[in-house]
Amino acid sequence: MEALKEKGINPGLAVIIVGEDPASQVYVRNKERACDECGIYSEKYALPKETTQEELLNLIDKLNKKNDISGILVQLPVPEHIDEKTVINAIDPKKDVDAFHPVNVGKIMVGNYDFVPCTPAGVMELIDESGIDVSGKECVVVGRSNIVGKPQAMLLLHKNGTVTICHSRTKDLKAKTKNADILVAAVGIPNFITGDMIKEGAVVIDVGINRLENKKLCGDVEFESAQKVAGAITPVPGGVGPMTIAMLMKNTVKAALVNKTK
Ligand code: NDP
Repeated sequence: MEALKEKGINPGLAVIIVGEDPASQVYVRNKERACDECGIYSEKYALPKETTQEELLNLIDKLNKKNDISGILVQLPVPEHIDEKTVINAIDPKKDVDAFHPVNVGKIMVGNYDFVPCTPAGVMELIDESGIDVSGKECVVVGRSNIVGKPQAMLLLHKNGTVTICHSRTKDLKAKTKNADILVAAVGIPNFITGDMIKEGAVVIDVGINRLENKKLCGDVEFESAQKVAGAITPVPGGVGPMTIAMLMKNTVKAALVNKTK
């Protein structure tokens, strides 16, 4: 970080949270903590749930113009009276460290991008760092959300994987998952993927973060049965979650570089 600062590159992250959703508050706290640990300047805007859309858009506009802020993140979900798409569209694409803005989504599609959504980026980093070659592999992504499933599939495709995207209308899901060399679960249902749905030796990446009634966190993959079949598997907590935060830090530094040259 010091070396960057000597070159006049000063990353700064603004995190906006609207309302009191407990999970969102934990996520925002973790992001602030990561900034502190990395020496990245950060500003937190905790707005009451009654905040109007106009007030939120005005704040985003102010941050878009603020020189010491290179990255802007609005913690989702926002309260129902605020339109999520309008909010995302208001963020300057060059400061969009979540990579949710349509400009950045399009750039990911064509494979020429500055920012990748943090969670799929974290999954790719885990795959890379583990020395797993995606090329030619059968990759199955369960989940097609804009923030995880779809960009995840695109990133695997850019690495020359043969990608299948599954969702709630997929017929015979088990036949699809059982065929996967690399299986990414982003469903949001605790223990949804069980060992019998996994191919022997497969790489299993669990994106899910689900809070059980006993307050414990668990993933979308039933770890106990899955680990007996998988060649490699990520735990929850402690797998994709911390990688997501690390990728946010990376995107914030990248944003400082992008904004310096804009
Ligand atoms: P969404 O609810 O937006 O999407 C869930 C996806 O799962 C949908 O595409 C849905 O299909 C699909 N699905 C639901 N039921 C089934 C089923 N029975 N069979 C097959 N597919 C199904 O969730 P997100 O993508 O936002 O998040 C997924 C999980 O990842 C959650 O647990 C979330 O907490 C976690 N998460 C973790 C992050 C991290 O940092 N580790 C970051 C972001 C999310 P359809 O489209 O047809 O409805």
